[in-house]
Amino acid sequence: MKLIGLSGGIGSGKSTVARMFRELGATVIDADAIVHELQAKGTPLLEKMVAEFGGKILGDDGSLQRKTLGALVFRDPQALQRLNALVHPAVIQEMGKRIQAAASAGAEIVILDVPLLFEGQKRGSGSAALLPYAATVLAYVPRAIQIERTMKRDRCSADEAEQRLAAQLDIEEKKALANFAIDNSGSLAATQSQVSQVFEKLKKV
Ligand code: ADP
Repeated sequence: MKLIGLSGGIGSGKSTVARMFRELGATVIDADAIVHELQAKGTPLLEKMVAEFGGKILGDDGSLQRKTLGALVFRDPQALQRLNALVHPAVIQEMGKRIQAAASAGAEIVILDVPLLFEGQKRGSGSAALLPYAATVLAYVPRAIQIERTMKRDRCSADEAEQRLAAQLDIEEKKALANFAIDNSGSLAATQSQVSQVFEKLKKV
């Protein structure tokens, strides 16, 4: 079984490419979905987060208010570190379980869809440091298209899209780090054909 890391930048098509890999038969493990499950209402992780940051991170219904939490850690690197110290081990542990389940089920290629894969790779932290990736794949579009698609999808202004992009490693830097880049700036059919080609190459890495 091979572990492949997949990432992108905001609006570059990571979810689109992940779906295409899944349709080709890859097992795709979605780190974001795991985070959401682990932080669902009433979970042990959410309780630990409340103990650390206070009940203000919960809404009236007891579920996590991501915007409130985001605002708390956005300009406070120490708070972000405290949050990551709670969340990362739980996520890595759950990913490990799912990787093992995929291996037991005979999966050949397991793709881990991880939002900040290349940021971690650059700093030597996160899943890039903890998991033995056989290769990494980037869903790539030039910066201008990232902004355009993010504005359209999330109905936000160019300023807001730029601000969110600024919190991530530049897409060209990610491209330099990735073993394979899938250019998603053209049609979905063009992306699909690249995903098929990369999938064949991943079988040989
Ligand atoms: P990410 O997961 O990297 O944020 P998405 O896969 O959600 O990116 O894609 C961002 C937006 O761009 C979505 O609204 C998606 O439907 C759209 N999109 C993705 N790929 C293409 C493409 N090749 N052409 C046009 N729109 C696309």
